[in-house]
Amino acid sequence: MIEYWWHIALLAIVFWAAKVCIYRTQTKLLVVNGANQDEEDANKVIIPSTNVSTEETVFDLKKPDKRIPVSVNFHFTRKCNYECGFCFHTAKTSHITPLEDAKRGLKKMADLGMKKLNLSGGEPFLYWKYVGEICKYCKDVLKLESVSIVSNGSLIKERFFKLYGQYLDILAISVDSFDEETNIKIGRGTGQHTAKLLTISDWCSSHNVKFKLNTVVNRYNHAEDFGQIISSLNPTRWKCFQVLSVDTENTGHNSLRNCAEFLISDEEFENFCTRHAHLSCFVPESNFMMKSSYIILDEKMRFLNKGDVYKESESILDVDVEQALIETDWEPDVFVKRGGVYDWTVDKPACGDDPALQW
Ligand code: SF4
Repeated sequence: MIEYWWHIALLAIVFWAAKVCIYRTQTKLLVVNGANQDEEDANKVIIPSTNVSTEETVFDLKKPDKRIPVSVNFHFTRKCNYECGFCFHTAKTSHITPLEDAKRGLKKMADLGMKKLNLSGGEPFLYWKYVGEICKYCKDVLKLESVSIVSNGSLIKERFFKLYGQYLDILAISVDSFDEETNIKIGRGTGQHTAKLLTISDWCSSHNVKFKLNTVVNRYNHAEDFGQIISSLNPTRWKCFQVLSVDTENTGHNSLRNCAEFLISDEEFENFCTRHAHLSCFVPESNFMMKSSYIILDEKMRFLNKGDVYKESESILDVDVEQALIETDWEPDVFVKRGGVYDWTVDKPACGDDPALQW
């Protein structure tokens, strides 16, 4: 009988220990940066990041309509010096929001919880001083965790790094092929794309800016094997998007491009992904993930929906950010699923660190 009671006591202890573990795990998910937790914080959904220990909040359970724009893409210009056939942010206008207004809009976003800003276009380096001043403002005044730029690379000069490199966390360069004939076919430059890419990679490394690559997988490059060159370039991330058709941009009424000749099947995209899955920096993104997981601000600081139907919100210069955000189809859960929260500050190396891949 005594032996029987010992079994019950042991079971009780194991049960209690399991409950403590579960409670601690749940508590960890509710703590914001380890700070004092008030009632407001306890109602926020905390999303563990994909590869770092920080945690981010993307919406508030108490107010389901309140979505927090943690990471924002500001396509401040539509102008570009390249002519990619599948471009989905085309030069329909040359409008740019004046710098002081842009700062005002970004301050509103930061007040609502923006932590990361990505500057994109068009080609941002057509306006390199504007870009530099925004980077500086976001780091110095708004204290954002991360500021990044996506560029085709062709207009970047080292002078930019010397003046503004300290305010930039990540520079992403678009590269669709290391065969210049393919680049020309796509519309990416006139044959110097790869050489410039290598130079920029060196500048990033000497100015402590993370180097990232973006590739649009399309009809002309889906069969290529990028493995060796990507691991030698050692980007912090290599993002690969399936070419996307966007109403009024590269397909349909009033579009300036026709992406039909570039489209690939889901199976072709999956084959490309399988070929490159061994690279630790490889981050694939299907059409589904792209359509509703990004917050895009356009050149007039309106939120854009780039899904099957093109929609614009009112400008955040005219209305509250929350009101404008509700007018978009941004899906916080898809944002998290695609790994939208990741290590977006400057201090880490990546892809080529896998010794099996170095050559
Ligand atoms: S570099 Fe980018 S913005 Fe310029 S045409 Fe190509 S896809 Fe469009």
